[in-house]
Amino acid sequence: MSRHRSPATHAGFATRVTRTGQAARAAGLSGMLATPGPDLTYLAGYTPHVNERLTLLIVAPDRDPVLIVPRLERGDAERAEGTEGVTLVDWSDGDDPYRVAGGVLDPQGRYAISDAAWALHVLELQRAAPAVGYVPATTALPMLRAVKDDAELGRLAAAGAAADATYQQILQVGFAGRRETDIAADLARLLREHGHATADFTIVGSGPNGANPHHGAGDRIIAQGDVVVMDFGGTMDGYGSDTTRTVCVGEPSAHAKEVHEVVRRAQQAGFEAVHPGVACQDVDRAARRVITEAGYGDHFIHRTGHGIGLTVHEPPYMVEGEMQPLLPGMCFSVEPGIYLQGDFGVRIEDIVTVTADGGLRFNNTSRELQTVS
Ligand code: ZN
Ligand code: ZN
Ligand code: ZN
Repeated sequence: MSRHRSPATHAGFATRVTRTGQAARAAGLSGMLATPGPDLTYLAGYTPHVNERLTLLIVAPDRDPVLIVPRLERGDAERAEGTEGVTLVDWSDGDDPYRVAGGVLDPQGRYAISDAAWALHVLELQRAAPAVGYVPATTALPMLRAVKDDAELGRLAAAGAAADATYQQILQVGFAGRRETDIAADLARLLREHGHATADFTIVGSGPNGANPHHGAGDRIIAQGDVVVMDFGGTMDGYGSDTTRTVCVGEPSAHAKEVHEVVRRAQQAGFEAVHPGVACQDVDRAARRVITEAGYGDHFIHRTGHGIGLTVHEPPYMVEGEMQPLLPGMCFSVEPGIYLQGDFGVRIEDIVTVTADGGLRFNNTSRELQTVS
């Protein structure tokens, strides 16, 4: 089992818990409920199996956090990195764990709850404590995990460097005559060789398949002249990587060169827009303007970026309407693309962090259109 460790110290976890309680109060909530997944890893350094037995961390302002755990997992919870200041309450098979949890909650309270909490747990909590209200954590406390500390930034940088090393090597493997799934398998193997615990996605979109941003990889045999989008990443020490480069098998056509250059300039413009205090939507606008002015606006069919950390898609989102100002330590993708149905697609993606006076890329391989054989 891979233990996704959050690199906080004991004091670091205590600070996160305190900050979460304060943020919940500021949002008019009684607290935050974290189930197994990134929120629990972040707040308590505890990453148990996600299963039908209730594990629930209850964080409320001015109270010690309480972790409800199945009795058989109590030892694991005690040994977790960030549970030193957490009160453990266990329950045994045959008990009603939701009544146990309900006894800790403010009976009239309203709580943020992890996005990934199973419906089973939420619905049973509603049964056991019917006057308590629940809102998704991403809606109520979107910036909970958005600003990374130095240890987290170190892990994201390392994951980015490993993804970059993977890209450098994939350029040498030979594309023509092989299936997309073969290249995808090479990407996954290389990510692991460079230290990733998991290779979570390996998109290889060749020719017309590149026009589908979330294509995956299929049986199509890659041919000379194909434009190929590769978008890949996974986790290393619990933190995510996510990078995209588009290559051409042999010499690119004039059209492929032109489209790629538009995307490259858009990605650069998005990156250069990154400064503390700038609204997220302005990163999207900066990248989108280049593509729109080049006449391809209708073919850029997704937001410019998403946050990354313990998960690969999380706030903040670089999207029209997102007014959240960028803060130093935020990390997100800048990934504009152009998708020409039936023809090909181009996307270029780097993970970028906000510094005191601008942005810093965690992906630094060439953004020029590279040719492969
Ligand atoms: Zn995506
Ligand atoms: Zn990606
Ligand atoms: Zn991405």
